Amino acid sequence: MSKNISPVCKLCRREGEKLYLKGERCFTPKCAFERRSYAPGQHGRTGSRSSSSRTGRESDYLRQLRAKQRARRVYGVLERQFRRYYEVALQRRGLTGLNLLQILESRLDNVVYRLGYASSRAQARLMVTHGHFTVNNRRTDVPSMLLHEGDVVAVREGSRGLPYFKALSEQAESRTVPGWLSRDTKQLSGVVQRLPERSEIDGTLNEQLIVEYYSR
Ligand code: SF4
Repeated sequence: MSKNISPVCKLCRREGEKLYLKGERCFTPKCAFERRSYAPGQHGRTGSRSSSSRTGRESDYLRQLRAKQRARRVYGVLERQFRRYYEVALQRRGLTGLNLLQILESRLDNVVYRLGYASSRAQARLMVTHGHFTVNNRRTDVPSMLLHEGDVVAVREGSRGLPYFKALSEQAESRTVPGWLSRDTKQLSGVVQRLPERSEIDGTLNEQLIVEYYSR
């Protein structure tokens, strides 16, 4: 399985905003963006990309590209797969942009994160890859698996004795769950009740610009 290996904090600095990709660390003074909020690299403080984007002089294309890259980075999806999601979204009925966001939200790693069983999508992805979760009682190690209404996600029986999972039900309790999911922290499980509505998805994502980017 291929993955994005660039240091995640650089992605926030590249986007010029915090993307909260590292869980708890993002809320501490250790956050790299708090210390260096300019773009990474030799020309980070003075480069044309950062200066143009921050003064609002960027082209339509650049705005569309940035919106697409930002969404890709938030969900940790590579370009080829992201484009594939767009093509699936295009074929579904309804608004393509919303369809795309719903597909991204229904990824298994995102659902594990949304259920509060991981502090970031990256951590959720790692735990799924290591086989700690089941979907409908079947073990899976595919973070990109798309879930549907009624699917049940749970921590695998054999993993529940691990220290991280022993402490998890209490930790997860303090994390809010969106209305499209239900959670049983005693059983360390959750159910997809329906697809999320737009209001239940990150409002800073601009799906319209992403659609424009791929429709050029
Ligand atoms: Fe981004 Fe989190 Fe790293 Fe801060 S700590 S730069 S918010 S990933």
